[in-house]
Amino acid sequence: MIVGTVREIKNHEYRVGLTPESVHELTAHGHRVLVESGAGEGIGAHDGLYVGAGAEIMDDPAAIFAAAEMIVKVKEPQPEERALLRPGQILYTYLHLAPDPDQARDLMASGAICIAYETVTDAQGGLPLLKPMSQVAGRMAIQAGATALEKAHGGRGVLLGGVPGVLPAKVAVIGGGVVGFHAAQMASGLGADVTILDRSPEALERLGIHFEARAKTRFSNRANLAECVAEADLVIGAVLIPGAAAPKLVSADMLKTMKKGAVLVDVAIDQGGCFETSHPTTHDDPTYIVEGIVHYCVANMPGAVARTSTYALNNVTLPHALRIADLGWREALRTDPHLLDGLNVWNGRITYRAVAQELELPH
Ligand code: NAD
Repeated sequence: MIVGTVREIKNHEYRVGLTPESVHELTAHGHRVLVESGAGEGIGAHDGLYVGAGAEIMDDPAAIFAAAEMIVKVKEPQPEERALLRPGQILYTYLHLAPDPDQARDLMASGAICIAYETVTDAQGGLPLLKPMSQVAGRMAIQAGATALEKAHGGRGVLLGGVPGVLPAKVAVIGGGVVGFHAAQMASGLGADVTILDRSPEALERLGIHFEARAKTRFSNRANLAECVAEADLVIGAVLIPGAAAPKLVSADMLKTMKKGAVLVDVAIDQGGCFETSHPTTHDDPTYIVEGIVHYCVANMPGAVARTSTYALNNVTLPHALRIADLGWREALRTDPHLLDGLNVWNGRITYRAVAQELELPH
């Protein structure tokens, strides 16, 4: 199969669909890989590395769209990219179609076969192609929070791990799923005093077994939340109710109970945020202060660590890309129900029920 990867053109997107190592796997399977010149620059992978992996470098993305049977990307195609798709071509990338009717209509009109990373499932019912970005965001939340706690950024001037003779910072992680687990791991590794709140007994048990004495677990109810938030130097918002907006667990009034210069990192901001005072920010200007509390609410945290994120993403996307290239899309989807869950657009129709219902389109 001819597989193509182009430079991402969405604002501030530095990740790339295929690493040189992934290209090497595809070419070793006998596939031809076309890579746009400079596609890997954002992760420090220059054209020479791709050539060494067997790729053909091309300057014109339109020529790659014209020649490739499958396009592998990271972000949803932008309007100018959508115009280059053709019937029967495979598009394998994050799509997030539900809130994006213009994109959905363009993809239906293109006749392309569109497989969305975010709806591919695994045997446990999880979303394995979303998971690495939650891992990245969870770990980054502690780095971002630690920086925001510095005086120069409006924080209380507290070092997360303390030093011998001085108590460490208190970190409250609300939501103990993928983001929360990785945030707690980073914070406890730095020596902070960590409490994880969740309302799922199974999650609390799993966290308790994993962390033992390195982090406390607490059931997430109003009283426990209020107490943990009031005491915390750093609060991480990491809740998710699938398919729904994030619940506002920390109200504007609760900020008044917090220590001045404490920090809120709202990772759940991409679902609307779990603090009432959150609004989305960008990597250029990531924080703002309300009632003396520093808020960090960047909606695309993994983009800042494009290299780590790209490698983490390729680890989970490449096996499916190889199967599609080796078997052809029809056979790859027929023999793998979890990959089939990723099919969002086919033959001019939306094939993923939740997306079609959200957009009120036929499916
Ligand atoms: P997850 O499903 O693995 O975990 C969510 C956890 O929240 C679950 O354990 C659930 O029991 C818990 N929860 C639900 N309601 C709660 C409540 N009231 N109190 C306490 N816990 C509660 O989800 P995840 O992968 O960890 O993602 C968390 C959020 O982070 C999502 O909104 C996701 O979209 C977002 N995210 C943001 C970025 C970013 O760049 N900002 C990146 C990745 C993920």
